[in-house]
Amino acid sequence: MLTAMLARVFEYMPALRECSILRTWTGFRAATPDKQPLIGHYRDRLYVATGHEGLGVTTSMGTARMLAAMVEGKEPPLSAAPYDPWRFHGL
Ligand SMILES: Cc1cc2nc3c(=O)[nH]c(=O)nc-3n(C[C@H](O)[C@H](O)[C@H](O)COP(=O)(O)OP(=O)(O)OC[C@H]3O[C@@H](n4cnc5c(N)ncnc54)[C@H](O)[C@@H]3O)c2cc1C
Repeated sequence: MLTAMLARVFEYMPALRECSILRTWTGFRAATPDKQPLIGHYRDRLYVATGHEGLGVTTSMGTARMLAAMVEGKEPPLSAAPYDPWRFHGL
């Protein structure tokens, strides 16, 4: 995959062939069946905020505000229902 991606990159920017690659990185775009993240109380003192697919960095401030409100027992700035971590249980 990396070789294929680099070949494509070099088509657009041939000068990058001269660069040394120090490190490569892979990660997950964790996703859920309905494409909505899991944000909220899971059990005991465990809260989750995951499953943001390719938008976890972009949405991190909003997610943090929602989670902080939930942990403090306050009303979150958005309805938390679509993100309920338990919504797939029992399906
Ligand atoms: C190639 C790529 C490009 C992306 N581009 C964008 C983008 O442009 N904009 C955007 O908004 N989002 C982007 N994303 C998505 C974004 O990176 C993720 O949504 C976000 O990083 C999720 O944050 P997270 O904290 O939930 O999980 P992560 O960032 O995955 O963090 C989870 C951490 O837990 C650690 N971990 C895992 N298992 C264990 C364990 N058992 N014990 C201890 N630690 C553990 C992992 O090492 C990792 O550090 C991209 C993702 C990828 C893969």
